[in-house]
Amino acid sequence: MKIETIRHSLSHIMAYSVQELFPGTKFGIGPAIEQGFYYDFDLPKPISDENLPKIEAKMRELIKQDIKFEKKIVSKKEAKEIFKSQPYKLELIEELARVGPVSIYQSGDFVDLCRGPHVKSTLQLHSGQAPYKSFRDYTGQAKEIIDAFKLTKIAGAYWKGNEKNKMLTRIYGIAFKNKKELENFLFKLEEAEKRDHRILGQKLELFLFDEEVGAGLPLWQPKGALIRKIIEDYLYEELGKAGYQWIITPHIGKENLFQTSGHLEFYKENMYSPIEIEKEKYYLKPMNCPFHIKIYNSKIRSYRDLPMRLAELGTVYRYERSGTLHGLIRVRGFTQDDAHIFCTPDQSGGELISLLKQAIKILKDFGFEDYEIYLATRPEKYVGTIKIWQKATNSLKYGLEKLNLKYQIDPKGGVFYGPKADIKIKDSLGRPWQCTTIQVDFNLPEAFKLNYIDKKGKKQRPIMIHRTPLGSMERFLGCLLENYGGALPLWLSPEQIWIIPVGSRHKKYAESVRGRASDAGFRVKLKSEAETVSKKIREAEIQKIPYLLVVGDKEMKSKSVRIRQRGKGDIGEIKIDKFIEKVKMEVEKRK
Ligand SMILES: [Zn+2]
Ligand SMILES: [Zn+2]
Repeated sequence: MKIETIRHSLSHIMAYSVQELFPGTKFGIGPAIEQGFYYDFDLPKPISDENLPKIEAKMRELIKQDIKFEKKIVSKKEAKEIFKSQPYKLELIEELARVGPVSIYQSGDFVDLCRGPHVKSTLQLHSGQAPYKSFRDYTGQAKEIIDAFKLTKIAGAYWKGNEKNKMLTRIYGIAFKNKKELENFLFKLEEAEKRDHRILGQKLELFLFDEEVGAGLPLWQPKGALIRKIIEDYLYEELGKAGYQWIITPHIGKENLFQTSGHLEFYKENMYSPIEIEKEKYYLKPMNCPFHIKIYNSKIRSYRDLPMRLAELGTVYRYERSGTLHGLIRVRGFTQDDAHIFCTPDQSGGELISLLKQAIKILKDFGFEDYEIYLATRPEKYVGTIKIWQKATNSLKYGLEKLNLKYQIDPKGGVFYGPKADIKIKDSLGRPWQCTTIQVDFNLPEAFKLNYIDKKGKKQRPIMIHRTPLGSMERFLGCLLENYGGALPLWLSPEQIWIIPVGSRHKKYAESVRGRASDAGFRVKLKSEAETVSKKIREAEIQKIPYLLVVGDKEMKSKSVRIRQRGKGDIGEIKIDKFIEKVKMEVEKRK
């Protein structure tokens, strides 16, 4: 039996339990989802997580009762009678029954509008004493289900996902084939929760959101801003070496610019309403491209100028529904490590290869070596000719194959202006995160009538490539935090070393150690507050400080330090010069 069938059947049993425990509940919908199921309820009174064990117990009680799932096909009129006290179901009947009769499932006193399939009886979710011979083949698997599901959380969900509708109570459950799978999943979930970047961001004081500022608009606190600066410095250096030139462009631009670029035609639902100044409309930029084009187009370019690589840490604003916002991963204002490459058609293949190489090098430097690559092809709505699309798709393919990169095709997943290669990095729990994108574009050069003068002195149209290896500073910091559980590698840690004098007589020596490490370029803090050493060590653990140097009599005498390394504890005494050498190496290796 398919696990989805079991999950969907459990959602009915959950609804049945809710009906028993909270009479008067109105029912929304309850599908199976990845790893489990949910059901949306309009409850007579609000409930909280504390109610979940009670609902779960009721479910187990019902499962043991050999409750049948009986399918019936009824007319629209009959269905309306059956669900006369269920407004949400009536709404669904109106939609479904336009084409004819509807199917319902009855289990005990609970009846639901549903296409199925379902288990035949709840005994299939529990071995019990299955009375049916035909059940023999799955009783082995089924007997464990009763212990292999769990209700996990309560959340608000608008009816039909529309914020204009009433907010219903959604109860989520998870269900697996057996208890072991459930336990594995719960373990992973617990790990993931510990790594939740929203919690870490708060604990480590990296970033925050403020109700009055607005949802999805992160405020970077000093330590978060410092990490960002470290990443930015890294990018300046890497891209500088690769022949990029840095530019800076404004956050808003006039209507006409976005009309020419096609954003107002193809991307308007993601843009904010215009601001009117001196009778002209300005839009917050959702992308940096049109601005970069203006710099390219500010003078006549020769083939000798190409490829021209213009990079910007460009802040863009996109409208995302409030329900989809998620910490730093999905926000409304964010800074892309953006760049646009203008090149001749002949150069585009080579550029794509170096871009793929560069993206993978950058991800590796940040500790991501496991990824999934997708080649997204021509969508339904597109600009340009099929021939030019084929050519660009082939260059991307060629690049991926040349570098021996495994990839999957994402059919019709390209942007309207060209195909793209996306890289999803996998974090230490194996979860994929979409970061890198490399997109070929033949629309914008056409729309803005971009040219370069070729060898023969003739005007030619360049190809444009959009690319961002990290995606955005916001999302990337979120991924980094979750991947490392907040314990960032030394080179990225906002505070790298704390120095802890054992007593007040060691303060002077501690200060000299601080000076040495700070002169060597490290971010150091002297912890000389009148608190116990063990308290400071605990604080450092919470703050995920990579190195603690404890100095007392012995260390003072021998000009050394006692090292406590994050995750390892005390690793012994070492001369201060040796320590600096060690950590310098570590930073160089970006470990
Ligand atoms: Zn159903
Ligand atoms: Zn772009």
